[in-house]
Amino acid sequence: MTETGCIVVLNAGSSSIKFALYDAGADGALLYRGQIERIGVGPHLEVRDAAGKTVAERKWPDRALDHHGATAEIMAHGQALLAGRPVLAFGHRVVHGGTKFVAPVRIDRAIVSELESLVPLAPLHQPHNLAPVAAILDAAPHLPQIACFDTAFHRTQPMLAQEFALPRELTAGGVRRYGFHGLSYDFVTKRLRATQPALAEGKLVIAHLGNGASLCATNDGRSIASTMGFTALDGLMMGTRAGALDPGVLLYLAQQRGMSFAAIEDLLYRRSGLLGVSGISSDMRTLRASSEPAAREAIDLFVYRIVREIGSLAAALGGVDGIVFTAGIGENDAATRAEILEGCRWLGVALDPALNHTCEGRISTDGSTVSAWIVPTDEERMIAQYTSSALASS
Ligand code: ADP
Repeated sequence: MTETGCIVVLNAGSSSIKFALYDAGADGALLYRGQIERIGVGPHLEVRDAAGKTVAERKWPDRALDHHGATAEIMAHGQALLAGRPVLAFGHRVVHGGTKFVAPVRIDRAIVSELESLVPLAPLHQPHNLAPVAAILDAAPHLPQIACFDTAFHRTQPMLAQEFALPRELTAGGVRRYGFHGLSYDFVTKRLRATQPALAEGKLVIAHLGNGASLCATNDGRSIASTMGFTALDGLMMGTRAGALDPGVLLYLAQQRGMSFAAIEDLLYRRSGLLGVSGISSDMRTLRASSEPAAREAIDLFVYRIVREIGSLAAALGGVDGIVFTAGIGENDAATRAEILEGCRWLGVALDPALNHTCEGRISTDGSTVSAWIVPTDEERMIAQYTSSALASS
């Protein structure tokens, strides 16, 4: 059997680049997965094979590797592991596609300029997403690169769901709700279409509960509303993000407490959420293991906010057929799922406590009017599939 080429998926954040290598053949098997963490302060690369065994590891304690350098290291290590198998294309996670990019797009220098023009809408994420794109354009300009957007899935939302009650010129100027985590919702809805087609056609609230957290309302697999808005700060309480706030809080912090914009940004993105309320950790496992009352209070607030927002999305949908859990907490934390569904009893959902300990599939009772499900997400695979399709159609 001849070996096919590979697709490389890159998901670059502020201090890390996660990557995954897939076989470009029909089965799209995962070959390797890894990341470089602590970029800029003491980079650490680790690569694992499909079984989870570490196959490469390196630290650069004295070297402040930047995103360009980190991308070059990933390409070098990837090539060594691939032992001659060609890389056919790169797929990138790009957080913001604005209103224009409603589907993945093949990147050239003109597209890079357009994506750079969206940096003001996502200043903490977009520049990092684009850094590996530029590095690869320089190092291997002949290789196709595909951008896949976190916002694109939500462009099916009705205008009402995308607008703030602000003067029209601000809405026209891009101050509107975009929604995020779209690659995760895309993967989950496609997976449901394949495994539970009748359910996928219905009205669902999908809960992506990881370090970042949001809900998305889908009808027939299309996003009709989401809890995230102009930025990834809105909506639910998260690991370190506050979620929705009365905007008057921001005015108060600036005007009365004299906080700078940088300090407010740090507060809202890095010091709030589960970490801020508990004063202990942003990590749900740590909070679940803690006997401190503040840990319990943080979890209670996390659950309360989700239950309230599920009610809001149920109203936007005009009813709910199913509630779907995904991402780190959604997939793994049976206690959080049970507490959320207890708060959603009024909707007609009844949890089956034994099924709640499964890894994937239905977790509600047979007789539950509204069903509940776990569907593991895989944003990297979604990007790989889009990249493969783009190659096939070019
Ligand atoms: P990210 O948004 O960074 O991709 P993840 O989807 O990996 O985050 O989710 C991370 C969260 O999932 C953390 O709060 C972590 O504690 C939580 N988590 C992972 N496994 C478990 C588990 N077995 N029980 C409870 N929480 C878990």
